[in-house]
Amino acid sequence: MTNVILSSVRKTALEHPDAPIHRMAGAQEVTYEQAWNMAGRLAAKLREETGGREPVMVYGHKSSLMIASFLACLRSGHAFVPIDSELPVSRVIDIARQLDLPPIICAEQAPYDLLESVCADQILDAQRIVAESGPFEDEPESLWVSGEETHYIIFTSGSTGMPKGIEITANNIDRFAAWMKTFPVVRDGRAVFLDQAPYSFDLSEYQVVGALVTGGCLHAVSAETTHDYGLLFSDLRESQIDVWISTPSFADLCLVDPSFSRDVLPKASLFLFCGETLHSRTARALRQRFEGALVVNTYGPTESTVAVTYAEIKAADLESPDPLTVGSPRPGTELRIIDPETGRQKAVGESGEIVIVGDTVAKGYYRNPEKTQASFFFASLADGTPARGYRTGDQGSLDQRGNLRFEGRLDHLVKMNGFRIELGDIECNLMSLEGVKQAAVIPVVRNSQIRTLKAFVVMDDACELDGLELAQNLKARLTERIPAYMIPRAFSRLEAMPLTPNAKIDRRALASMGR
Ligand code: AMP
Repeated sequence: MTNVILSSVRKTALEHPDAPIHRMAGAQEVTYEQAWNMAGRLAAKLREETGGREPVMVYGHKSSLMIASFLACLRSGHAFVPIDSELPVSRVIDIARQLDLPPIICAEQAPYDLLESVCADQILDAQRIVAESGPFEDEPESLWVSGEETHYIIFTSGSTGMPKGIEITANNIDRFAAWMKTFPVVRDGRAVFLDQAPYSFDLSEYQVVGALVTGGCLHAVSAETTHDYGLLFSDLRESQIDVWISTPSFADLCLVDPSFSRDVLPKASLFLFCGETLHSRTARALRQRFEGALVVNTYGPTESTVAVTYAEIKAADLESPDPLTVGSPRPGTELRIIDPETGRQKAVGESGEIVIVGDTVAKGYYRNPEKTQASFFFASLADGTPARGYRTGDQGSLDQRGNLRFEGRLDHLVKMNGFRIELGDIECNLMSLEGVKQAAVIPVVRNSQIRTLKAFVVMDDACELDGLELAQNLKARLTERIPAYMIPRAFSRLEAMPLTPNAKIDRRALASMGR
């Protein structure tokens, strides 16, 4: 048993040592050989500092040190937990506590509060370690994370206000990588991949796995660059990107600028999407501006390892008024549609809850047997092969040809600009603020897309704030607890929440007030 990421990177480092693995504006290009050596040195340090095989947090943003740190964890027998430095520090501390204050490799300076909450000797300064010049020993391959061991844990928004960790195994990644290697353009090898999604989201594993198992190069774009059109476009012009992987929202943002075309990305030949609905207008604009490029829609939650379906969007798909399909399942995955109440399997064309069964379904939620049991189960594929299953909470239907149509959510999870947000997460964090008695958050939808979030709050009588003042006060306090993309844009103070006949918060009534 081996680890496909490590064996692939080592192979490229030996056979094509000068092949670039990571590029980024303002940073030096890093080759496969350099990255492998950086990872070796970091892995040696991890072996020295930690005895077991516990998960290790990797803290930072886009950099070659982050990639080397992920490899180092896997080489020394640890699952890596990617933590983007854009997350509020209290959220990072919540995650660290769930992991029993684990070792942290810092690819950039960690904030003081985080350093305070973990033991100083648990912090490894990646920059300092890779700059050391003394000899170090490579680890035996038997130490590598492999098989059913956890390869990474990605923390997503949790409905209780606490982020929840999803454990993806080395086997999951092995099978996902094998599938990805069959994708057009990717399969040719040595492609340049857009690397924009933050590493704490599993969408980023699309480009990381895709590039690393095919000798490709990650062209990283920082959040700072993403937020500045001028910087972003001049960076993209230099990038030579072949494979564009992003949420549809990020492509929409770029398409607003008419110069986003072959002028900017002359080589782009595959646009790969996941994470939220791909609208026809986005696919159409890309096909017009990037003639000859493939536009591919894929679907999957973090719990099933990045993506499990695939559909090349053709001209004929764009003529139909129907929403775009998310495609058919990858080999090794079966999709079922069930009645969410009874669990009974639905017929072709009928709508119900999407269930994913297959060899890329995660182990479950980290140290959370109840949540794991509620959503994951043991099953077998049609040919009898045992596999894990996952109830997605997504609504959809299958057509005669086995293509999946995504029809929304059955619960209060929303996708906004590609970010996965449990409305309950924001509500719990709002209610933990002094003075807030009740809170409900609703998505504000325009042109069938979620544009912003609106919060309704019932405050203690003693609270005198209202209107803009109250909104500013709540926003400022929430910013310390949840990521910026989860902060509602508007707040409205109510005397009492509207209730349904069975005394639940009447979200429909709130939605009509939110318009
Ligand atoms: P995440 O775990 O962040 O990848 O979010 C997973 C959720 O994103 C899924 O359960 C769906 O609700 C949504 N999603 C993923 N891919 C698509 C897609 N192609 N179209 C529509 N929604 C999607």
